[in-house]
Amino acid sequence: MSQSTIEIFGSNVFNDAAMRERLPKNVYKSLKKTIDGLEPLNPAIADVVANAMKDWAVEKGATHYCHWFQPMTGLTAEKHDAFISPTPDGKTIMEFSGKELSQGEPDASSFPSGGLRATFEARGYTAWDCTSPVFIKEDGKNLTLYIPSAFCSFTGHALDKKTPLLRSMDALSTQAMRVLKCLGNTTSKRVISTCGPEQEYFLVDRSFYEKRMDLVLTGRTLFGAPSPRGQEMDDHYFGTLHERVATFMHDLNVELWKLGVSAKTQHNEVSPGQYELAPVFSTANVATDHNQLTMETMEKIAIRHDFVCLLHEKPFAGVNGSGKHNNWSLSTDDGMNLLDPGSTPHDNMIFLVMLCATIKAVDKYARLLRATVANTGNEHRLGANEAPPAIISIFLGDQLGDIFEQLAEGGAISSRTGGELKLGVSSLPELPKDCSDRNRTSPFAFTGNKFEFRMPGSTQSTSGPNFVLNTIVAEVLEGIADELENSEDKKNTLQKLLTKIAVEHGKVVFNGDNYTEEWVKEAEKRSLPNIRSSVEALKCITDAKHVELFEKHHVLSGAELHARTEILLEAYSMAINIEAKTMLDMAKRQILPAVNAYAGELATSAKAIVDAGAINKTQTEMLKKVCSLIDALASGASILEQAIDNAIGIADFIKQAESYRDDVIPAMNLVRNSADQLELIVDAEIWPLPSYAEMLFLK
Ligand code: ADP
Ligand code: MG
Repeated sequence: MSQSTIEIFGSNVFNDAAMRERLPKNVYKSLKKTIDGLEPLNPAIADVVANAMKDWAVEKGATHYCHWFQPMTGLTAEKHDAFISPTPDGKTIMEFSGKELSQGEPDASSFPSGGLRATFEARGYTAWDCTSPVFIKEDGKNLTLYIPSAFCSFTGHALDKKTPLLRSMDALSTQAMRVLKCLGNTTSKRVISTCGPEQEYFLVDRSFYEKRMDLVLTGRTLFGAPSPRGQEMDDHYFGTLHERVATFMHDLNVELWKLGVSAKTQHNEVSPGQYELAPVFSTANVATDHNQLTMETMEKIAIRHDFVCLLHEKPFAGVNGSGKHNNWSLSTDDGMNLLDPGSTPHDNMIFLVMLCATIKAVDKYARLLRATVANTGNEHRLGANEAPPAIISIFLGDQLGDIFEQLAEGGAISSRTGGELKLGVSSLPELPKDCSDRNRTSPFAFTGNKFEFRMPGSTQSTSGPNFVLNTIVAEVLEGIADELENSEDKKNTLQKLLTKIAVEHGKVVFNGDNYTEEWVKEAEKRSLPNIRSSVEALKCITDAKHVELFEKHHVLSGAELHARTEILLEAYSMAINIEAKTMLDMAKRQILPAVNAYAGELATSAKAIVDAGAINKTQTEMLKKVCSLIDALASGASILEQAIDNAIGIADFIKQAESYRDDVIPAMNLVRNSADQLELIVDAEIWPLPSYAEMLFLK
């Protein structure tokens, strides 16, 4: 009999229920206080907790444990150790100590460090993050206890994505609590940033994938003429699920539910072959861990169904790319969503202060936010006539837009209401109408009781966007708290502060269509940055203003920020280097041989036709066209080869990234252009690569 969803959910997680059941009461209480951010971890309880975890894991069939961390590669890392501890009688017992739970010492020398650590200084540390529950992962026959961990160098520098996220959550909580106290809150102990990331992805049949070195090595197609049919019928979004895809989604959900990942929403996305999964939101830290698990599990389950899951931001040119909408809000430990406007937002002071703080933070640190979404894949989306644009602006909608304008004029005194929606059919219910419409084109939209940051790319960890959001909002809240704490008349002071924010930062609010040329011009007038290039975006990270911000809130030091910038720019260069080399290889060893053979066939038939006394006009014209495209392809390939050679030799990591952007990418475009034109005229039987039509439509 199949297990029910209720039984399956969280069955592989050492969650609160499991801890309560298996830990002595005092140990449970102490650990819970640490998990809730109220007390540091008491090292004395670590042995007891480790032992209980081990017993639980071994009962479920686990043989190994691992510290699971998120180095700057953007992927996760793990090194497994068995629980075995051989005894003198030649047998073994299963052991797991508090020290093994709390700390690991992986060799850090092969992870990106951005110069924070010389290669000979190999030691690194992982530290158990008890705020994200341990879980068992089943990989084939291998069952392992996973311990979510932070990762740092021997010198204590953060080398991972988790550490700054946790630090930023502390910073945000500290400042938000100060503001809440000033506004009379006496019940909350902590403010938590919450995140619900919507994950977009493509599925392609494995047989096509295996015939495309570009997909195998780079995750995206480097060649491919458009399919005669793309997404113009608007018939894929929310369309009926294909049975094979639905079965994949079912197995994916079951696997995720076991891990406690609350996969909730699933549907077809805009492009053919594109889909989305959204979980129920959780704390930014757990959501980030769970999103990594979601991506890994998607890839794993897809293979079981003879699909391959493509997480790349732009696997196919000409149809929609994939993003990861980062839904973000603030909530108190006692369950209040601070971005919930309630029914009369104009007099909801807590809401207004959090809303205005976020608006100011996003306006003031727009470049930094833009940097969090900069990578090679996302460059194909942002600023390339696709959703969303590279200009950061905020959508508030009618109701809040109106309140924000009232604030700018001195104070908000009323809230517009939505009313009812009548459908004109007596059997259909009257629907309460929302106060604002949605806006799909905005990169940063207020959506009911949270902000939705739509720029992150589908492959990216949610750590970056969230630790930056948390830190910039903490910074603004700190300023507000400073003034409120020193004020005799808090209400009046707050009113003035909000008005000041509305006046000074109203320029970042935009409720119109973000895709138009007019907006680009208008944004320029408002001096909002429009950073199209990832390299330019990444270079901003170490601006003095940003270093000061992160140091002040103890999220990242100047040295850590410099290291990160170097790592991200090098990753940019290396990703393009791999793409360029893959492209050259495919051009030279697959496409050119095929098109040369085709040209030979055309030549033979042109000659045979003349020999037979007929006119070979069409054949010679085709031959000429093919030959001229072959020439263009071959010359593009040699330009590309030269560009790669130049770029790879550049020592300075910024100049190198610029060379990949300015020389290598344009050469890649040349090569692709000729090859894609050839694909449209060459015999389909000869063309060495599966077509866009096959990959996007055949299941
Ligand atoms: P959309 O209509 O924008 O596609 P979805 O239902 O696909 O919306 O996803 C919305 C996401 O926002 C979900 O992951 C949901 O859990 C998340 N979300 C809802 N409320 C909050 C909140 N308070 N904080 C963070 N995320 C939230
Ligand atoms: Mg969605």
